[in-house]
Amino acid sequence: MTTEAQKRGKDWLGQAKLRPTRQRLALAELLIGDGQNRHVTAESLFAAAKKTDVGVSLATVYNTLRAFCDAGLMQEVTVDGSKSYFDTNTHDHPHFFWENDGKLTDAPAEELRIASLPNAPDGYEIASVDVVIRLRARDAAEGKA
Ligand SMILES: [Zn+2]
Repeated sequence: MTTEAQKRGKDWLGQAKLRPTRQRLALAELLIGDGQNRHVTAESLFAAAKKTDVGVSLATVYNTLRAFCDAGLMQEVTVDGSKSYFDTNTHDHPHFFWENDGKLTDAPAEELRIASLPNAPDGYEIASVDVVIRLRARDAAEGKA
């Protein structure tokens, strides 16, 4: 029996002509099975996979996320130079990075205006512009004064 979530995962891999291995199917289902976009780290997806009966290692999760990016199914968003998030929404869009809990979510794209950018150096063109807006919880005491 195939559930709706499994079918979504299979179709998603099919779009990119990725071979639907058991592990890829299981991870695809976790990523887009509910039809929502998702931002994960290799660690968070690994934790989610551990709750199911898919036997995958962290290295496999990481390599699979890379393969999904290479196939154009996901994009990688690097926040601290060290921390990579993987996004199932591959359109250009800004992000909120929640510093207090290390979470990455989409920011409303319609409220973003980039009026001008520096010229690219000679021989280069701008390939993309990543917008990550870092959020920090306001000090509770600050608002009371
Ligand atoms: Zn996103």
